[in-house]
Amino acid sequence: MTQSVSSMISVEEARERILAFFSRLDVERKALLDALGQVLAEDVVAPFDIPPLDNTAMDGYAVRAADTTGASEAAARELRVVADLAAGYISETRIGPGEAIRIMTGAPMPPGSDAVVPFEETDEPLRAVGEAPTRGGTVRVFKGAGPGANIRYRAEDVRHGQVIIPAGRVVRASEVGVLASIGLSEVNVYRRPVVAILSTGDEVTEPGQPLLPGRIYDSNAHGIAAMVLKFGGIPKLLGIAKDTVDDLTRKIHKGLAADMIVTSAGVSRGDFDMVKDVLAREGAIDFWTVRMKPGKPLAFGAFRAPDGRSVPHLGLPGNPVSSMVSFELFGRPAIFKMLGRDDWERPTLRAITRDAVVNTDARRFYARCIVSKGKDGRYYADLTGPQGSGILTSMSAANALTIIPEDQPQANPGEEIDVMMLDWEQAP
Ligand code: AMP
Ligand code: MG
Repeated sequence: MTQSVSSMISVEEARERILAFFSRLDVERKALLDALGQVLAEDVVAPFDIPPLDNTAMDGYAVRAADTTGASEAAARELRVVADLAAGYISETRIGPGEAIRIMTGAPMPPGSDAVVPFEETDEPLRAVGEAPTRGGTVRVFKGAGPGANIRYRAEDVRHGQVIIPAGRVVRASEVGVLASIGLSEVNVYRRPVVAILSTGDEVTEPGQPLLPGRIYDSNAHGIAAMVLKFGGIPKLLGIAKDTVDDLTRKIHKGLAADMIVTSAGVSRGDFDMVKDVLAREGAIDFWTVRMKPGKPLAFGAFRAPDGRSVPHLGLPGNPVSSMVSFELFGRPAIFKMLGRDDWERPTLRAITRDAVVNTDARRFYARCIVSKGKDGRYYADLTGPQGSGILTSMSAANALTIIPEDQPQANPGEEIDVMMLDWEQAP
């Protein structure tokens, strides 16, 4: 990577250049529940049929379907109950003509049976509380059951040898369930990336410490760390570096074991020289102006670790909203790529803006907004207030960002615009 100051590039170009530096991480073996949100590194193949045997889908009576043909309340068929079978046990009794076995959901079908009559279609519910379920060892069937009725067949879900979850799938709750259903307690997944986060600036103060006049609290490191965690990475907070080459170098060194280093602030043109010295010594950097608002300045490069590895570095702008929006657009795809995921694109939808969105400086405008569904079933977008890139509370109130194109100077109230959902679940 060259040490150049390039002119304005698009969000897509910046993202493409950044993503070229990342690849999927190595594989680790994790306990099922700990793998939640990670990506499967291997096809998962069924080691047996599921279900392994034909079994009953209902509590009821296993019967020979032919014995129930034509049954009704007026013409009940009386069958002899020869056994009781719970789930988890194999019946040693074979059903003969005129016989039934009382059977619980999940229990394997007894030999000789080919249908199940649910309790509701027999006289069993008519028994008084405390009375034995069958009267005189018989049951009366009120409804005919066709062959196969209420049976779950062997292998109807999964066949032995079949790929039940392909490599590349994210482990969600349903995958954990499926993996457990074939007896697995561990699984191979791609490792989560460790993301080292460093704030820079003499004025920046750690939350929990007293605030001296003229200073501000470090919102960036903590906000970004929360995003890293939410996107599936492992944040490693490096603290705050003073605006000196020495301190910056020392603190960056602590992050060189990470898979990615994220810094905030010091990327506006004036400030950057000092950071650039460090980067020139320790690696290489590109400094870009990205055609977006908020978050125009962005640095991207790589540090050389002592072991020769190249550690990608994303230099975010200092303004809190700019840093979060930039991390959303560039950090999230990088984390996803390291996790083995390519589905980093947020869901977008068309919404009708209720506010005018003014976009005079020919950059793509990601304005903070709240998207909600109107009574007419359409989506509406309301700006969350002033859009200054230091106004973090308006980010907190938002569940979406507008995507106003670079060449569109204004969206008027009532106009349909693209919005990118950040918290889909909060959209009513
Ligand atoms: P800079 O890029 O250093 O010029 O910073 C731009 C703005 O972001 C300044 O107002 C900084 O005070 C502010 N800023 C820098 N770092 C942080 C941080 N970690 N948390 C909150 N605000 C910050
Ligand atoms: Mg600064």
